[in-house]
Amino acid sequence: MQDVPLLISRILRHGATIYGSSQVITWTGEAEPHRRSFAEVGERTAQLAHALRDELGVQDDDRVATLMWNNAEHVEAYFAVPSMGAVLHTLNLRLPPEQLVWVANHAADRVIIVNGSLLPLLVPLLPHLKTVEHVVVSGPGDRSALAGVAPRVHEYEELIAGRPADCDWPELDERQAAAMCYTSGTTGDPKGVVYSHRSVYLHSMQMNMAQSMGLTDADTSLVVVPQFHVNAWGLPHATFMTGINLLMPDRFLQPGPLAEMIESERPTHAAAVPTIWQGLLAELTARPRDVSSLAQVTIGGAACPPALMEAFDTLGMRVCHAWGMTETSPLGTTARPPAAAVGTDEEFAYRVTQGRFPSGVEARLRGPDGRTQPWDGASAGELEVRGPWIAAAYYGGPGGEPQRPADKFSEDGWLKTGDVGTISHDGFLTLTDRAKDVIKSGGEWISSVELENALMAHPEVVEAAVVAVPDDKWGERPLATVVLAEGATADFETLRVFLAGKVAKWQLPERWSLVAAVPKTSVGKFDKKVIRKQYADGGLD
Ligand code: ADP
Repeated sequence: MQDVPLLISRILRHGATIYGSSQVITWTGEAEPHRRSFAEVGERTAQLAHALRDELGVQDDDRVATLMWNNAEHVEAYFAVPSMGAVLHTLNLRLPPEQLVWVANHAADRVIIVNGSLLPLLVPLLPHLKTVEHVVVSGPGDRSALAGVAPRVHEYEELIAGRPADCDWPELDERQAAAMCYTSGTTGDPKGVVYSHRSVYLHSMQMNMAQSMGLTDADTSLVVVPQFHVNAWGLPHATFMTGINLLMPDRFLQPGPLAEMIESERPTHAAAVPTIWQGLLAELTARPRDVSSLAQVTIGGAACPPALMEAFDTLGMRVCHAWGMTETSPLGTTARPPAAAVGTDEEFAYRVTQGRFPSGVEARLRGPDGRTQPWDGASAGELEVRGPWIAAAYYGGPGGEPQRPADKFSEDGWLKTGDVGTISHDGFLTLTDRAKDVIKSGGEWISSVELENALMAHPEVVEAAVVAVPDDKWGERPLATVVLAEGATADFETLRVFLAGKVAKWQLPERWSLVAAVPKTSVGKFDKKVIRKQYADGGLD
């Protein structure tokens, strides 16, 4: 067989020609969104690559960072940077400033492409960014703060204008670095994960399988998950393989504009973490809209509460639960019930699991004694995975070499996910918790996720996050922090009684706290580190 390297430039060329008329639609907040065909994106991608090489001197392996919303220019950077042989580093614009500085310096970014609206965030950081030589600004936003900054400043449109609209993309080694992402640091310092052309290519093929997303050029995908959160879960690459239209929300991520873009552009697919959908649900309850075009909503990044899935079902939006990590590119499982279960009482039970492993992801469970657990749907253990789009190491140890910390990688090279759960005989994963979030009470484990899901099924509970807090008698006990809906009448005793029928009595929390909002991480997940700290500091009663 021919040995053709699996390169991102091949995905680009395919999308820009075979699906040249598919579109990247960027929401502008004005009457008409901005529409750009895949063919035009292909041309502008070539122009951007020429500019980066000829004007900015970007060479192989240089890191080109983006500090951008989801939009067409960000898609162009997604293809231009890796296709020319450099490495795309998507910066998480919601990281605290000191962490942003840390990751940009750690990755040694040479160029930053930034949206004009994010300059107030970037400019104060520039004096601390040791390796950045060029800043490229795209889209609306006041430029005045850039006067006198040290790196050279370029306007995106001026930079690419007039350059050749095609490119003889180099035949790279498919194993070379294409892109990098840092974990969002939910459970520790951010860690750099480097994706290769090969891993991106194979992951995109898997995303497009019917058992995963299974979309075609008849579909439009609303990519709410940020492009800095694990490559927008691989969607921009996957869509160029099969011509799926992209609907990009840019900076309009609030529930109101999201509902508006769903109603007017009628996407058939959308992807985001549960908290985004909780917000949308509240919006749709207050101001109903026609969102029935959404035949598939991929929810992942954190456990999808079954109550949310049911609520979406009644609105005609079908949730598909998925599990993954920055280290797994991210798609690790997708919850599509087996054909035999569709239409039966078992279907919903399958849909609320984290899902089934696709071909390409091998899994095993390690029990507390270190032994491999059977796939019987009951024996719990830490999930370990391996496969061609699973990280083998983290980027950049002290001497620049890859890091393989023993708590993250097994001796035989599997990724230790830090997630605890069971696997059924037919390969459905059910996560009970992150190892770090499990509540260890009197020698038994309580799943924080199970308590949260049960609480969020109460009609007056908007959000509920449960964490372990120290307890003299039991070691740890659950603390439930709850956000109630406006005008709610439920008190903690009502919620305890509500829970009593759903979880074992000894698991019922005796500590409760009413909060205005659950703190969130930079990618919108419940931030349990912060809740634990608030409790330790006496900030929660
Ligand atoms: P961070 O670890 O910083 O949050 P990631 O986005 O890589 O960054 O998070 C991966 C983790 O998110 C997984 O290890 C898992 O704990 C959690 N997660 C992802 N998807 C799901 C899901 N569907 N159900 C439960 N947990 C999930």
